[in-house]
Amino acid sequence: MNVILLGPPGAGKGTQAKRTAAAFGLKHLSSGDILRAERKAGTELGRKAQSYMDRGALVPDELVVAMMADHIARPDAAKGVLLDGFPRTRAQAEALDRELARMGNRIDLVIDLAVPDDDVAGRLTGRRSCPKCGAVYHIRFHPPKTDGMCDGGCGALVVREDDKEAVVRQRLKTYHEQTEPLIAYYREKGLLRQVDGSRSVDQVGAAVDALCRGAQ
Ligand code: ADP
Ligand code: AMP
Repeated sequence: MNVILLGPPGAGKGTQAKRTAAAFGLKHLSSGDILRAERKAGTELGRKAQSYMDRGALVPDELVVAMMADHIARPDAAKGVLLDGFPRTRAQAEALDRELARMGNRIDLVIDLAVPDDDVAGRLTGRRSCPKCGAVYHIRFHPPKTDGMCDGGCGALVVREDDKEAVVRQRLKTYHEQTEPLIAYYREKGLLRQVDGSRSVDQVGAAVDALCRGAQ
């Protein structure tokens, strides 16, 4: 089964994807996490992506499509993928369809996590991330046990550069202009299901899992 989690930045895609991927045996592929790992490793792709990410713009389609196609084709993704943050443009969605078809595969379900802009802005500016293990917290909604420290014993949490207020505004604009049209794209294909992502993590998770069970 191949599932896409759609939604604005801060909708809770990563939070839900981590749990749901584990529950359904899917490989969680977050394009944002993969790009941040490329940056950390100092690769050519990471260097090319940097300026786009830091200003809240999208990394060019051809770079992201090639990167994600490589991850989707890996043996650890053979049982199915849970895509988080990809696709983000119509060109990416069409390229993904072509890539999966080439592998004799397809998207089975697209879940749109709907959350109003005001809520996601607060979620992003309050987000704290562990640079070592990738765990995600929120200062109010999901605080770590010790202020500013990862529960996994990794050390200090950080504020992502692009979670600062000015960049958050640009990321929301980018989302509405370039990614929101994918809701109609997948609705026309009969694949779209919408979930009210403004509820608690557990309530949203229960709705996401129910949709995945239905698509199995
Ligand atoms: P995305 O991957 O869509 O950008 P995240 O999963 O990283 O979003 O969540 C963004 C922030 O919102 C994080 O700080 C996370 O702890 C918090 N969060 C996620 N889901 C919820 C929820 N249902 N209610 C409140 N806060 C949430
Ligand atoms: P995210 O972690 O999903 O919020 O992504 C962080 C940043 O990485 C985005 O603001 C973009 O600059 C870049 N990015 C992540 N996924 C994509 C994608 N599918 N297409 C283009 N850029 C992306």
